[in-house]
Amino acid sequence: MCGVIGLFHAGEEDVFPDAVNGLFQMQHRGQDACGIALADGRIVRHHKGIGHVREVFPSRPLPDFSGFVATGHVRYPTQGDNRVRNTQPHVVSTLRGTNLALSSNGDLTNYHTVRARLEEKGVDFLGTNDAELILKFIAWEHLEGGCSLLEAIRRMQREVRGAYSATLVTGDALYAIRDPWALRPLCFGTSGVLHVVASETPALDIARVDLVDEVGAGEVVHFGREGITRHPHPDVASVRHGSPVPAHCIFEHVYFSRPDSIAFGERVYDVRRRIGAWLARHEDEAIDVVVPVPDSSNAIALGYAHESGVPFEFGLIRNHYVGRTFIHPDQARRDDGVKQKFNPLRSVFKGRRVALVDDSIVRGTTLRKLTRMVRAAGAAEVHLRIGSPVTRHSCFYGVDTPDAEALIGSRMDEAGICAHLTADSLRYISVEGLREAAAGDGHFCMACFTGEYPEPVREQKASK
Ligand code: SF4
Repeated sequence: MCGVIGLFHAGEEDVFPDAVNGLFQMQHRGQDACGIALADGRIVRHHKGIGHVREVFPSRPLPDFSGFVATGHVRYPTQGDNRVRNTQPHVVSTLRGTNLALSSNGDLTNYHTVRARLEEKGVDFLGTNDAELILKFIAWEHLEGGCSLLEAIRRMQREVRGAYSATLVTGDALYAIRDPWALRPLCFGTSGVLHVVASETPALDIARVDLVDEVGAGEVVHFGREGITRHPHPDVASVRHGSPVPAHCIFEHVYFSRPDSIAFGERVYDVRRRIGAWLARHEDEAIDVVVPVPDSSNAIALGYAHESGVPFEFGLIRNHYVGRTFIHPDQARRDDGVKQKFNPLRSVFKGRRVALVDDSIVRGTTLRKLTRMVRAAGAAEVHLRIGSPVTRHSCFYGVDTPDAEALIGSRMDEAGICAHLTADSLRYISVEGLREAAAGDGHFCMACFTGEYPEPVREQKASK
């Protein structure tokens, strides 16, 4: 999870308001903390805190908190505790006055190995966050190793494994950096004078800039007074251990990204509609009404309804002030959230055979409660239709799925899951069905379903 933004204004106008607005458009990617670092040609200033964007930035934190270059972040803590020291952007200052600030989305898989190597060289760490490691690696190579910033980034890309979509600010320039697998999304756009880099395209839309492209796998894009300069990775396959293709996180399409985002070349809304159509084409039960678990399943259920001709209804009314249940880091908050989040419309369910559509099943606790809720509201039958394959494996790339033992799909077969959820039937989309619906270049990470990670994962998920 997490969302990043980067901004550069060629006319040297203040980008603070656009940074706040852009982060607010990505609030769904992280609700625990946020921050912004700004530069005005020389100095990098930063402000960060625990809370939502509008809480941490109700207004400009200081009268002179302004600049024409910025990096910003909304945080969901997949690793490193939720203290300000682990919130982003991270900043490096030296006696020589060179300041760098960096925000990143994604988890590294060899954090401990690289950190130990840096500590041997005398590098200090304030927290346990991956972005701090990336920044300090680059800073050390650039400032102590004496190489250019681009070369320092290339050295980091050769050593560091895992997922990172990052924005880096110097005094007067912005860099967008993406890992060689292009696991997490990162795109950029421009109005001609304002350049914006972001995890999701609605952050570009709100700044009224046009989408140019995604940052490529392993690519570094430089935004400076001379314009936009793209640096494709010179040998991206080698840093992917010979793999010719990237591995985009399929869960961005299934769940994380907003439906109005364009991720990996496809509009997320369209992908979700196609997922729903696949589920409809593989339906073998008589269904009277299709109902989404809002909001991330709305477009999937709509696609199902259009393909099948079955009426679509909003049967579960969501309290929008509860937030996402999945996104809360602990079980107690998740349980509380489910109870308060949904209320069933009896008139939709009474006596009907319901296809209840959800995007995924992680632990199964939410869907079990919802299935019972729908039945108690009068449904004659409850058929669960799931917009992703069985989630059996943990994610090591920045998505806070639990350890495998906590995943219901790793402990039970589909019949067992169906019985546990108290449903009349259960169907998941297949891996190939999902790949087809996601379209794009077809190169996706699907490791949480297949266990085939883009590269060997040596360090344990719980070790950071
Ligand atoms: S393991 Fe799953 S959640 Fe993690 S990057 Fe791969 S597809 Fe995405």
